[in-house]
Amino acid sequence: MPDANVKAEAPPQDFIREIVGADVAAGRHGGRVVTRFPPEPNGYLHIGHAKAICVDFGVAADFGGHCNLRFDDTNPVKEDVEYVDSIKDDVRWLGFDWGGREYYASDYYEQFYDFAERLIRKGSAYVDSLSAEEIRDHRGTLTEPGRDSPYRTRPVDESLDLFRRMRAGEFPDGAHVLRARIDMASPNINLRDPVLYRIRHAPHHRTGNRWCIYPMYDYAHPLSDAIEGVTHSLCTLEYVDHRPLYDWCITQAETGHQPKQYEFARLNLNYTVMSKRKLLQLVAQQHVTGWDDPRMPTISGLRRRGYTPESIRDFCTRVGVAKKENVIDIGLLEHCVREDLNRHAPRAMAVLNPLKLVLTNYPDDRTEQMDVVNNPEDPAAGTRKVDFSREIYIERDDFMENPPRKFFRLAPGREVRLRNAYLVTCTEVVKNSAGTIVELRGTYDPATRGGDAPDGRKVKATLHWVSAAHAAPGRVRLYDRLFTVDDPDGAAAKAGVEITSLLTPGSLEELADCKLEPMLASAPPGTRFQFERLGYFCVDPDSRPGAPVFNRTVSLKDAWARASARQPA
Ligand code: ATP
Ligand code: MG
Repeated sequence: MPDANVKAEAPPQDFIREIVGADVAAGRHGGRVVTRFPPEPNGYLHIGHAKAICVDFGVAADFGGHCNLRFDDTNPVKEDVEYVDSIKDDVRWLGFDWGGREYYASDYYEQFYDFAERLIRKGSAYVDSLSAEEIRDHRGTLTEPGRDSPYRTRPVDESLDLFRRMRAGEFPDGAHVLRARIDMASPNINLRDPVLYRIRHAPHHRTGNRWCIYPMYDYAHPLSDAIEGVTHSLCTLEYVDHRPLYDWCITQAETGHQPKQYEFARLNLNYTVMSKRKLLQLVAQQHVTGWDDPRMPTISGLRRRGYTPESIRDFCTRVGVAKKENVIDIGLLEHCVREDLNRHAPRAMAVLNPLKLVLTNYPDDRTEQMDVVNNPEDPAAGTRKVDFSREIYIERDDFMENPPRKFFRLAPGREVRLRNAYLVTCTEVVKNSAGTIVELRGTYDPATRGGDAPDGRKVKATLHWVSAAHAAPGRVRLYDRLFTVDDPDGAAAKAGVEITSLLTPGSLEELADCKLEPMLASAPPGTRFQFERLGYFCVDPDSRPGAPVFNRTVSLKDAWARASARQPA
């Protein structure tokens, strides 16, 4: 496996659980543990969110607490109910339950507003009438302090009056903002009188036209936590510099609750991008078929690809919770799903690039039913019957007319095993006028039923197969990595190009003429199988009766590792 130093067995123990454990032991927050998962409904969830979900829900569960699902819906322009619905589906599918505590920042707008008036009255906030550009200009830089706005000394009554009129819709977008009065010289730029409210005449997916001022995330988030009685507000490292503002809002608004924010490293995965803005770009520009395209790192994409919730949770556990940023090899994610599906996915035979093999000594009118084990890893999965007859499809790749020294599969005059069936020997190669091989002829040894020769002779290869008379047609989609480089964000920035120029050309390959074991044709979407020798596959929702479509979740072995191992030193 790619990342052998990442262990799965030990129960999760990390710095966050240490903190929460100590708080519980000390009786802080009355011994309660309340966390929240706070997505902004402006896109579909991705594998990075899965990590946050596992941390937020997992920590609460470990300490007998609970986790709220809160939609941080403070930006009406980018948010949508489609995203709300997909987020709920994804969290549920991952196996987590918010127990009816489905909350929305927008439900607290009235309370946020009251807190804001309180801040103004106590001199902790003021209405600024500078333009956005002027505010930016006054903010200073990392090395230079900011400058006070001329409106910073505006009397409380005037600010209060303007703020009320902002809410009443008297001003156009951008005319005024509400700002915290903190410290324009703070070394932390987030504390240089951050904007708390802006005017935005835009309908909101939940509050409609009721509001035309909207709170900023940095103001709404801590107050939402306080309103809900959250004890431990877990988020990613980019919020470290926002923590002083988080604490400031809680203290100044006098909410009566004291949630604390803790930051952990976000999940970064190579060969993909994780920013919702960039994922949206891939969808909007139709580089992928949608948010749930099986190449996407979204939870819905991984689900469609055939990933199991267990494998994603296992992956998140192995990645762990750390304080330092790192990049995880996508091979670890593939390893996790392979392990899970190896234990649970029933085996089946499917031929993706069929080549017909006619067994000339096998009776024309005969069909035999071969006993086949459904899952060698799971005795409870039982056995099934698979039809065998005179004409068999094998994989085109499993035959070579002029095999090189290390090719052990079928070749003229050579004997191989058909899995669970017979030993067969190729006797003739049939070509069309263009010289393409269209069929093989061969013989079977009737004494080898089940695949072993009574005289103990050995063959070097075992092939999967499907009986031609019984095969069901189907389509199979194979996926390559979405990007050609391990760090698309970094590479695009360095080269000054769009990430879309780094997409792998032809990362989706559809094979339209596959031959499947008949039981595969009726498996409902979402059903997962191991196709013998080929990998793990999952029925796609594009399937129609009699026309199944399969996605390859992952190959049986780490093909990427093998490919690099083959490179000459
Ligand atoms: P993006 O920047 O792609 O829009 P975001 O962080 O703004 O992502 P949110 O919807 O605000 O997305 O995220 C909800 C929660 O998920 C936050 O607590 C955030 O910290 C967490 N999260 C987002 N991305 C990751 C990641 N890659 N790894 C771990 N947690 C993440
Ligand atoms: Mg965010």
